[in-house]
Amino acid sequence: MLKIGLTGGIGCGKTTVTNLFVAHNIPVIDADEIAHQLVEPGQPALEHIKTAFGTDFVSVEGVLDRKKMRDCIFSDNYAKKKLEAILHPLVYSGLQSKLTQLHAPYCIICVPLLFETQMESIADRILVVDCSVAQQIERVKKRENMSAEKIQAIINSQIARDIRLSKADDIINNAETENNLAHQVKKLHQLYISLSTL
Ligand code: ATP
Repeated sequence: MLKIGLTGGIGCGKTTVTNLFVAHNIPVIDADEIAHQLVEPGQPALEHIKTAFGTDFVSVEGVLDRKKMRDCIFSDNYAKKKLEAILHPLVYSGLQSKLTQLHAPYCIICVPLLFETQMESIADRILVVDCSVAQQIERVKKRENMSAEKIQAIINSQIARDIRLSKADDIINNAETENNLAHQVKKLHQLYISLSTL
């Protein structure tokens, strides 16, 4: 099965594009979803987090204080690396295990931090969803209550747009309206179907 790694910066339109592939009956697996499940109460990763970060981060009921953790890793690069060292190998094996359950000509593996986490090798081909930084800020601001400064800081923590684009096999240009996406996805769907039979 051909594996397409879909990535892009915050608010570039990964979810919107992914939904269009789903409409073509293409299975999607999502690294963020796996990362989220890994820190559900009772999951082994939570015990590692408790050991590495202290009991302050996990309630007595075993629930991770996600906001505290987000704030911590945002302001402390060492803490960020420590959390990544716990989660990334588990996310990678979680993706691998989901892949073995799929039956389709190709699938989409959505990994927002594909390059930042050096997970490129999980995919045969890389698809980048792209728009300008100004559009990322405008769209995320509209979607949720986050300041432009915070969004910019997240963008700064991600790989630079030009480097991300230089690593792409395929690019979806999401600079126009959402209506412009369906046609681009359809063309890529046809390409991936043709590559999958090679
Ligand atoms: P994140 O990295 O935060 O998970 P994402 O890359 O998955 O974001 P989406 O959630 O798909 O991005 O899109 C971000 C927001 O921008 C959403 O509210 C979406 O509806 C909106 N959006 C996506 N594409 C466009 C577009 N072409 N024009 C206007 N708004 C758009």
